[in-house]
Amino acid sequence: MSIDRGRPFMAMDDEYDVSDIVVFGIPFDGTTSYRPGTRFGPMHVRNESEGIETYSPYLDMDLEDYKIHDAGDLYFPLGDVKTVLNTIEEYTNKLIDDGKIPMMIGGEHLVTLPVVKGVHKKHQDLHIIHLDAHADVRQDYMGQPLSHATVIRRISDFIDPSHIHQYGIRSGERSEFVWAKANTDFNPFSLEGIKKLKDTLNNTPVYVTIDLDVLDPSVFPGTGTPEAGGATYKELLKALVALSDLNIVGADIVELSPHYDHTGGSTAVACKTLRELTLATLK
Ligand code: MN
Ligand code: MN
Repeated sequence: MSIDRGRPFMAMDDEYDVSDIVVFGIPFDGTTSYRPGTRFGPMHVRNESEGIETYSPYLDMDLEDYKIHDAGDLYFPLGDVKTVLNTIEEYTNKLIDDGKIPMMIGGEHLVTLPVVKGVHKKHQDLHIIHLDAHADVRQDYMGQPLSHATVIRRISDFIDPSHIHQYGIRSGERSEFVWAKANTDFNPFSLEGIKKLKDTLNNTPVYVTIDLDVLDPSVFPGTGTPEAGGATYKELLKALVALSDLNIVGADIVELSPHYDHTGGSTAVACKTLRELTLATLK
């Protein structure tokens, strides 16, 4: 498998062998149903990362103090979904075998599936924490079982849905809401409940997937399916600080589509989220 190594994300320039976290990009938007463009997410995040500080005043931690390797973006044939997913899973397997924590930059949300598969092989008791505007629990999307709109349902094929904790959801078909309410730990509209997870999960391994459209479009317009009524950035920050109390063994941010926000604000939001998520994982 080949890797395109451009400039790394700010302060994530340590060598692979000595690093605890490996950041990698998945420039894939092949199943996007509405407005494409998330394939440009990882590149823009890296380019704009110099615009923020390495220090987090929320967590009182600095990226410079940790060993983090930005591996670049995976290469794959964009039109072939199964090959793309296999390539990502193989790469995740390698990271897990080498004892690394994977931190993925999407890309559309479907690319979370193979990363979770790889992490789940090592952590059979894995829980999923899912922040999103959309439930993503369709059984299929226009007949297609592998889609950004089905990703959480596909994860529930091998992880007990009661181990999937969903927050911020405010969009989906009625049948998705019915299924999620009956099967997942479903917390629509708000991120508030995340701080309660510490009491129930303790040291259980968790994978955190942040679909950035969980944020309100006034904060984060740079995405393919913006959905009004979302979280403020301060609400997301509170959630990230709460997540730092958990045992995060893998994580991602997905669905930045930089060209829909010509101010660059959405990309800056994604950069800050990646910094906080990375530090929350290391804490
Ligand atoms: Mn999603
Ligand atoms: Mn979404």
